[in-house]
Amino acid sequence: MSDLIFQSIASATKALKNKEISATELTAASLARIDATEDALGAFLSVYPEDALKRAAELDAQGFDPSKPLWGIPISVKDALATKNMTTSAASKIIENFIPPYSAYVVEQLEAAGAIILGKNNMDEFAMGSTCENSAYKSTQNPWNLKCVPGGSSGGSAAAVAACQSFASLGSDTGGSIRQPASLCGLVGLKPTYGRVSRYGLLAYASSLDQVGPFARTVEDCALMLSVIAGHDERDSTSSPRANEIFHDASNWKKDLKGVTLGLPKEFFENQSMNPEVAKVCQNTIDEAQKLGATIKSVSMPHLPYSIAAYYIIASAEASSNLARYDGVRYGHRSAQPKNLEELYNSSRTEGFGEEVQRRILLGTYVLSAGYYDAYYRKAAQVRRLIREDYENALKECDALIAPVSPIVAWNKGSVTDPLQMYQMDIFTLSLNLAGLPGLAIPVGMAENMPVGMQILGSAFEESKILSIGQCITEHLGTNGQYAKL
Ligand code: GLN
Repeated sequence: MSDLIFQSIASATKALKNKEISATELTAASLARIDATEDALGAFLSVYPEDALKRAAELDAQGFDPSKPLWGIPISVKDALATKNMTTSAASKIIENFIPPYSAYVVEQLEAAGAIILGKNNMDEFAMGSTCENSAYKSTQNPWNLKCVPGGSSGGSAAAVAACQSFASLGSDTGGSIRQPASLCGLVGLKPTYGRVSRYGLLAYASSLDQVGPFARTVEDCALMLSVIAGHDERDSTSSPRANEIFHDASNWKKDLKGVTLGLPKEFFENQSMNPEVAKVCQNTIDEAQKLGATIKSVSMPHLPYSIAAYYIIASAEASSNLARYDGVRYGHRSAQPKNLEELYNSSRTEGFGEEVQRRILLGTYVLSAGYYDAYYRKAAQVRRLIREDYENALKECDALIAPVSPIVAWNKGSVTDPLQMYQMDIFTLSLNLAGLPGLAIPVGMAENMPVGMQILGSAFEESKILSIGQCITEHLGTNGQYAKL
């Protein structure tokens, strides 16, 4: 097995270009790594070795193409993204074995860039969860400690990259599902600005919050993935019309943080649930950023504590509407021999959806119902605006904000069973989606022998700026490119 699989996309591309390795050999090495680790890890719902090798052979026959930035690079994709000829279930029984007739925009973009898609990563059912334990099929283990969760909902996408089964992956972030698993698995993960990346072909959870984004082991690789998947797509009405940018041009990146003001939202740091060891690693990161020349400024975001309530009302409301299409009639699971139409809907959805998804549908339907809409949904929408204003005010005074991602490191599987306690874990990530802004999770150190991440939060469409800050900090801390020695 080639050692290249433990390195960055940038290094592998150099080797492919110089013909030190072929796309077929690199793909075979990634597949061998999957074979060796997947029983322990459970990061994939499906792997397509033959298709991947066939595609690699085709690329080899054509020869290295420098215009394709992911030429010959093995990548994996969250099961919430439609892939032509590959099953796409969003880890739900309701569309078990579904093979979409088309691929998501981001998957098309990966393929056009020369990537080799190995298979589909495990996740919480319909992206609802924070641990990957809500998958209808299997749980995924954290490659740094197999007893622990990898985070969620894009836990499989994170575990695969942290264990070097793939070079990078795609996930989706509705309330933290890229940043939180990236943080718990010691990776770089980016939630782009709402509208930066097309949602065409992403199985919808909460459409006003969902964004697709990359996981990678280095900031540069993460930026490269963003360059590939971003851009206008007329099939998503919320896709931004702005022209695509190149995010991975390292020559634009700063070597230090002189002249950069980083805001510390005090409500994030005063949070009572913060583990003291994690807090210490975060404080050390802030001290190091200051040594790199950054000006640190305390800012206040007074509505942050309301983000959990507002998020779970809005996300559940949208989910209840989006998931209404799985009715047992048009496609997906249909209950056997229902007595009438009512029972067809009822039993198909009861059998097809897991407990957490049903909880969200019930909650969402309730907050949207005529008698409660004003008390819950409308109020949550108002709180959402206040949270967005908090971000705007804080970012007026700063280049970016820096904050923890998770109050604790990856926890033991099965140890959090109360849904409300689970929702509390999302306190640091949810507000960014309510505001529609970009956030980059970066690895910043270890606590209790597990990785700790922090997030750099920026103004709309300022991904380049947060990537540059993230690069500077991770290079300085020596955390860029780390992986789990599984
Ligand atoms: N944990 C949050 C939820 O369960 C966020 C999930 C996500 O970003 N998809 O809704």
